[in-house]
Amino acid sequence: MNHHDTIAAIATAIAPEQGSVGIVRLSGSKSEVIARSLFHNSNNQIWETHRILYGYIKHPVTKEVIDESLMLIMKAPRSFTREDVIEFHCHGGIMPVQRVLNLCLEQGARLAEAGEFSLRAFLNGRIDLTQAESIQELVGAKSPQAAQTAIASLQGKLAHPIRQMRAKCVDILAEIEARIDFDDDLVPLNLDNLLRDLQEVTDQAHTLMATADRGQLLRSGLKIAIAGRPNVGKSSLLNAWSQTDRAIVTDLPGTTRDVVDSQLIVSGIPVTVLDTAGIRATEDIVEKIGVERSLISVKSADLVLLVIDAQIGWTDQDQEIYELITDLKTDGDHPIILVINKMDLPTYPPILPSVFEKKPIVYTAAALAQGIDQLELAILNSVHQGSISSANLEVAINQRQKASLLTAVQALERVLGAIALPLDFWTIDLREAIHALGQITGEEITESVLDTIFSKFCIGK
Ligand code: GDP
Repeated sequence: MNHHDTIAAIATAIAPEQGSVGIVRLSGSKSEVIARSLFHNSNNQIWETHRILYGYIKHPVTKEVIDESLMLIMKAPRSFTREDVIEFHCHGGIMPVQRVLNLCLEQGARLAEAGEFSLRAFLNGRIDLTQAESIQELVGAKSPQAAQTAIASLQGKLAHPIRQMRAKCVDILAEIEARIDFDDDLVPLNLDNLLRDLQEVTDQAHTLMATADRGQLLRSGLKIAIAGRPNVGKSSLLNAWSQTDRAIVTDLPGTTRDVVDSQLIVSGIPVTVLDTAGIRATEDIVEKIGVERSLISVKSADLVLLVIDAQIGWTDQDQEIYELITDLKTDGDHPIILVINKMDLPTYPPILPSVFEKKPIVYTAAALAQGIDQLELAILNSVHQGSISSANLEVAINQRQKASLLTAVQALERVLGAIALPLDFWTIDLREAIHALGQITGEEITESVLDTIFSKFCIGK
């Protein structure tokens, strides 16, 4: 990939239907020349940086008007990529933006690769790697909390502590290496201070690592299946749940509503409730197909809510469904929450199989929208031992960052354990920790790692 070409791409989402505005973006030294060959504005508007001009984009040869547009000029280094950037704000819809993009390409720009604008912003020092990753996370966020976490890292709230930790390790390494080289001329190492500093960095790394699970949940969300025999109140439960104000039902553009899966947000976690109404033990061939389909759904779920009727108690059919579900899970320890519904009716305490002594049980009256809070709490507890709400860090690291932090922590713990050994032994592990921390922010990174990270971006980012 040549990082000196002028690149161009459509920067806004392209839907088959028309949007109101579509942006074509250019970045690189030829941006302005290309723009001048295409854009025609009235004479009293001066081409200067950080200005928006109004005019027409015309074919350079035929002078045919391609679109009426606004043009934004951002000269290097005051732009996202730190290169000359031009944006054409065209009419939305595929045709205007596509034609304007084609003209840019004809005039010498190259079509940007996925994430190439962000890659340039990174390579030119405008953003670090955690910020680049957070852009992608922000764009893909499916809940307000996921977006908030992404914004926090975009603001450098992850990069900052990582840089500090790394700087501290570099200082310690310098101290140690000085002793190895010129031992006689220097005051002896203050081991207590050094160990304290190392321990501090290690603790900080552990704290950040603990945010990874939350990060994973915020990004990927949870799939939950509601199972139970007919008439126990599954639909009523889903209805009541969808209508609580914390569980905002999202109607994402582009998602088809014909599938019966519902989208909810629980404590910031995007939750997909799978349609698994069909699970029951049956001999009917046609019905069996439906059951099979539901079972496949359950298999893909992270969590199953098994609903029973409080007034009727545990029945043979409940037992059959329970067995169908648990048979699916080879690990045998798949989270199941037992939901005992219709608690508003006169009931006896149901006699449950002994497996439920160790499983979470929630009592609801779905028809009265009661018990939803407890249900959500039980869900959060079972996926994350309750630490989601208690995690008070704004950022949540991703899996790549977690892997590097883990390498750093392991190396630091080896340093802490090597205290009785000669100093040379310490430096190897300390260097590894420094390297791993540097990989998170991108201070130390290889081309291939960059490729993997940025290729996950969409074109135009
Ligand atoms: P599903 O077949 O499991 O989806 O069950 P439904 O949600 O359709 O509910 C079956 C019947 O039980 C309906 O008549 C509901 O009104 C009633 N029902 C559901 N939840 C409750 C509840 O909490 N209390 C009472 N009294 N009735 C309920």
